[in-house]
Amino acid sequence: MPKYEDSKEFNPLDPEEFREKAHKVVDFIADYYKNIENYPVLSQVQPGYLKNRLPNEPPDTQESFDTILRDVHDLIIPGITHWLSPNFFAFFPATVSTAAFVGEMLCTCFNVVGFNWLSSPAATELEMVVMDWLATMLCLPESFMFSGSGGGVLQSTTSESILCTLVSARDRSVDEIGKLVVYGSDQTHSMFKKVCKLAGIHPQNIRSLPTTIDDDFSLSPRLLRKVIEADVAQGLVPLYLCVTMGTTSTTAIDPIKHLADVAIDYGIWVHVDAAYAGSACICPEYRHFLDGIELVDSLSLSPHKWLLAYLDCCCLWVKNRDLIRNALSTNPEYLRNKISESDSVVSYKDWQLGTGRRFKSLRLWLILRSYGVTNIQNHIRTDIQMAVAFERLVQSDSRFEIMVPRQFSLVCFRLKPFDGFDSAELLNKALLERVNSTGQVYMTHTVVGGLYILRFAVGATLTKECHVVAAWEFITKTTDALIKECGRSSTKSDCLSNT
Ligand SMILES: *Cc1c(COP(=O)(O)O)cnc(C)c1O
Repeated sequence: MPKYEDSKEFNPLDPEEFREKAHKVVDFIADYYKNIENYPVLSQVQPGYLKNRLPNEPPDTQESFDTILRDVHDLIIPGITHWLSPNFFAFFPATVSTAAFVGEMLCTCFNVVGFNWLSSPAATELEMVVMDWLATMLCLPESFMFSGSGGGVLQSTTSESILCTLVSARDRSVDEIGKLVVYGSDQTHSMFKKVCKLAGIHPQNIRSLPTTIDDDFSLSPRLLRKVIEADVAQGLVPLYLCVTMGTTSTTAIDPIKHLADVAIDYGIWVHVDAAYAGSACICPEYRHFLDGIELVDSLSLSPHKWLLAYLDCCCLWVKNRDLIRNALSTNPEYLRNKISESDSVVSYKDWQLGTGRRFKSLRLWLILRSYGVTNIQNHIRTDIQMAVAFERLVQSDSRFEIMVPRQFSLVCFRLKPFDGFDSAELLNKALLERVNSTGQVYMTHTVVGGLYILRFAVGATLTKECHVVAAWEFITKTTDALIKECGRSSTKSDCLSNT
């Protein structure tokens, strides 16, 4: 152990100390992944659990690494909801891989702050190459690539991707900012409203168009045209449309081509948010969901959701890189250097919010090279097959029903209301609470079109078909117990209230 008491000996980056501690952490992580099923998937702690178990002040002097690591195990892990557990079926999974992890280690290792080309030529150039590779995998038109008029950039989140493109669109008509109108559906992710606020769009000019179960909760091009026409008639200026390919609640698919056809008539910037489902389009059999993409202005997709990438990683492609650069470029003296942006390289600081940026493309590069496109396509297909298996299990039990057609690896279902228990919402809430409270399985719910729906999202990296089958057995067992109790209790509120 190095001694830090003598300040001369304080060395925050001693290579041998690094080797020793990092090896210990690697062992810790490998053991965690191996034993992850032993932990309750949903953390069972109460709010404030940690504060009382930690001192009020940081230590004055060094603590041993083994003590710290033991506290991670004893204090931190109980407060972890294990997103990587094979029994995690909540939200959308956050997928991971060895390749991305070691890519992240290399990214952290170099710690370059790649705002422009010279600040680390490899960081800019690898990102350009990898974004073009992914564009090719998705069969995007050349206009989204660096060989065309556009290109791709790695952001952290969909929110930032939308903010950057919304501001690019807005700056073409910023003089009319009070009149600018943006469009999405009532199924557009909640971040859209926040981003519009950040971009200075008047809250009254954010249209959230209603969807219905008859259209599988997708945005109707006819309705869009009607609403735009009414806005134009009032002297408002249509600006931006957020189309969602795979909504968060139910993976509804807005029809890109038909919506873009409407938007083009009014010069509206069209963005496609394909955060989760876009990854499926690397498989030829799902690529048709992006039909019409040549008509839109920008597309974002988050490999931290389904392409094994670890958080956080969101790919954004734009069709006209001049527009994003015009809107977001800065040129302070202290960042100037003799090599400026040229046709062959870009200054990525002009494609994002911040100046500093990490060398995140290493993660994607490692994934693509370590597995190859075929294995990554098969990873998508395997997840979807497991969801199909779960869907069949649901269909095989007449007490349940599938609520919206399954498109990818999310199954939306519910326990049907039955005699005496006609509130599907109370019934399914009670079932969900019972299932999640055990820590054996974690799934979530949504409400769409007034319907309370259970969401079973397959795809955590460690999940195998046996986990899906076991989860279904557990859900049916819990249902049996719930129904039995309901039969016994005098009032239905007894058995449906919180367990
Ligand atoms: C998960 C998800 C998001 C998340 O947005 P962030 O800004 O990355 O947190 C956005 N849109 C859709 C459709 C999603 O499923």
